Amino acid sequence: MNYRKGDRVLHPKRSDWGLGQVLANSAVGQVRIFFANIGLKTISLGVVEPTKVTGQNAKSIILDRLFDAEGKKLTCGKCNGEASYDGDPDLQRVHLGWCDRCFRKSFGVQKSA
Ligand SMILES: [Zn+2]
Repeated sequence: MNYRKGDRVLHPKRSDWGLGQVLANSAVGQVRIFFANIGLKTISLGVVEPTKVTGQNAKSIILDRLFDAEGKKLTCGKCNGEASYDGDPDLQRVHLGWCDRCFRKSFGVQKSA
């Protein structure tokens, strides 16, 4: 199965990972997915084929905040300033919806992604 950037998926054996969003079109048997509960994973498609989900089942507050805002400014839930979740952001920060500055202030700089 091919996966396209933006597809919402579930891991067939790890429902505890939560809903995932495909980060880039699948290639060479791999696909990179950001799962709402555990963050970034690279899935080998020879081992497991994520299940595509659509409609109401594909809705996720966390994923929508991260990925449906392309071109829009994301706002920090704490200071109302601009927040960015580029790269491989700390999952706890993503769940809080805070900017990096507020997160570091509250949780200390030693907290790594
Ligand atoms: Zn903030």
